[in-house]
Amino acid sequence: MNLRIPGPIPVPNNILEAMSNPMINHRGPEFAKLLNEVTKGLKQVFQTNNDLYILTASGTGVMEAAIVNTLSPGDNVLSASVGVFGDRFGEIASIYGAKVEKLTFDAGTGVDPQTLRESLKKNPDIKAVLVVHNETSTGVTNPLSEIAQIVKNEFNKLLLVDGISSVGSIPVKTDHIGCDVVATASQKGWMLPPGLAFMSFSPEAWEAHKNSKMPKFYFDIANYEKYLKIGQPPFTPALSIMYSLDIALKQILNEGIENVFQRHFDIAETTRNGIKSIGLELFADHNVASNTVTSVKIPEEIDGKKLITRMRENHNIILAGGQQELSGKIFRIGHLGLCSEEEINDVIESLNNTLPDCKLTP
Ligand code: PLP
Repeated sequence: MNLRIPGPIPVPNNILEAMSNPMINHRGPEFAKLLNEVTKGLKQVFQTNNDLYILTASGTGVMEAAIVNTLSPGDNVLSASVGVFGDRFGEIASIYGAKVEKLTFDAGTGVDPQTLRESLKKNPDIKAVLVVHNETSTGVTNPLSEIAQIVKNEFNKLLLVDGISSVGSIPVKTDHIGCDVVATASQKGWMLPPGLAFMSFSPEAWEAHKNSKMPKFYFDIANYEKYLKIGQPPFTPALSIMYSLDIALKQILNEGIENVFQRHFDIAETTRNGIKSIGLELFADHNVASNTVTSVKIPEEIDGKKLITRMRENHNIILAGGQQELSGKIFRIGHLGLCSEEEINDVIESLNNTLPDCKLTP
């Protein structure tokens, strides 16, 4: 099966096999060694010297952790959104009692830095800005460096970043650009099964944590810090995925993170060119097109549902449809982690063969 959704992604066999290692005591010395090693490796990929924590959670869990560890009910928060996950980030903050100002941009476009600047000028009470680096629902990578320059250098606000489908695949210079919290999850570019999430936490985020009054128990990062000091997690971790993480990180660091980023750019270019070569139109603006997921417009005369079903049934290729308002309007091809040119060529060729059978009857 050619699983081409933007996570979970195909996991290489050697990484998958590591999951079958026997269980160990998560409060023993073997685990402490593993935890310290993978934490060190993760910091290298996050390009950070900030604290970094491993949570047993999905991406949404770590988004929640980013919010509840830094904010209080009543805090003014600016949520810059370009899609479903941006909206979700704001919604979580709102459910926990933050006053969320939404700054929404059209699907397929990125956060416009000037509009963000003006919005922060107009709202001096904003405490934190929430942004998704790579908006998986539309295949858009937001200009994170420019956003950070404005949020941190010009306005000195907290910057909370959902890097779930970017960290490890698309450069995120956490310290260099000054992200306070960066969150990601294992089922994306890390080449791992779902179940673990990673979060970096800056000194400024720790300052915010001191005054943060949002309720938290499982996600209270102070607990993770206390236990990390003794080489333990506060709660039972997804041990099997920790074994795999160790192997995956070694693979990523051996290849070199710059090479990994370049490989993602190359495969994204192959995908974009392939799509155009068969007469289909890309959905995301070219200047913000993602290197981990490509969104494609479904032509008006094509039945999008039928296309996805036929690709699965006839070619064993699993594509992602559009989410919410984009359902039936776009489909998405995931190319994070290890994805070969042959796998993408297979997608393009199969799409080309399948499209004529999926015409809507007039
Ligand atoms: N944020 C982004 C950018 C994502 O791509 C996803 C998952 O696709 C999530 C958040 C939510 O992650 P999860 O489904 O693991 O909770």
